[in-house]
Amino acid sequence: MGKLTGKTALVTGSSRGIGRATALRLGREGALVAVHCSGGLEAAEGTVSAIEKEGGRAFPIRAELGVPGDVHELFLALEAELKERTGTTTLDILVNNAGVMGGVDPEELTPEQFDRLFAVNAKAPYFLVQRALANIPDGGRIINISSGLTRMANPQEVAYAMTKGAIDQLTLHFAKHLGPRGITVNSVGPGITDNGSALFDDPGAVAAMGRYSVFNRVGESRDIADVVAFLAGDDSRWITGSYLDASGGTLLG
Ligand code: NDP
Repeated sequence: MGKLTGKTALVTGSSRGIGRATALRLGREGALVAVHCSGGLEAAEGTVSAIEKEGGRAFPIRAELGVPGDVHELFLALEAELKERTGTTTLDILVNNAGVMGGVDPEELTPEQFDRLFAVNAKAPYFLVQRALANIPDGGRIINISSGLTRMANPQEVAYAMTKGAIDQLTLHFAKHLGPRGITVNSVGPGITDNGSALFDDPGAVAAMGRYSVFNRVGESRDIADVVAFLAGDDSRWITGSYLDASGGTLLG
């Protein structure tokens, strides 16, 4: 029996990358996982199939975040699927993982690009947490994926890093608010992590990026998934309001 048997989890943006690895790990621990994506359902269905192949349980849901009605649409699908499979709409674990990066010259970034980053990376997680509180029982878990860029400068990502700073504030203040219910709220801050995108097909680029970590390699998505799984389980019950540095020592300088 896995550590999360009998639990339900939502991992936003789990069609690929860190979210996919996280959904797989939570599924392996026995959780029933809602695999969320914004595009076509095929990629999310791929994650679901991989979880089922390992004997786990999962289902795909689709909702674009960062647009009006996003949270409502997501919960409509989520609650229907949970009800069908468990008879309730209880959500034990919420992982706010979906996110978009900037990569724009700080002197060129437009207000529209800024708004989009905040809508997807900061506003959506806030209102997902707010909405999920009707479903999360006492003792539940909220895990927000932040970034090491909240603690080191990269001018191309200033607005993105600002959104992740907002995520850390979401964590801090909701942790206090939800303490009386035994719900823990924590941030995980990855460093450069191979998310399967084309960037990581270039060995030279990967070697250069790996040098940021004291372990001289880029992170694997499962490196982050394992930290999230720890925070999702009972072993982390005394940790809340924290920022867990999962950057392979990148922040050590
Ligand atoms: P990917 O780009 O590989 O995957 C992003 C996921 O989020 C996809 O499943 C995507 O679904 C979903 N998503 C993106 N935009 C939206 C949207 N508007 N609405 C709904 N879903 C959306 O991301 P990573 O795995 O690299 O990153 C995961 C998290 O980790 C992000 O929050 C990121 O900021 C953070 N992070 C990543 C680092 C890295 O080096 N990879 C470093 C530090 C932090 P779909 O494909 O359907 O759009």
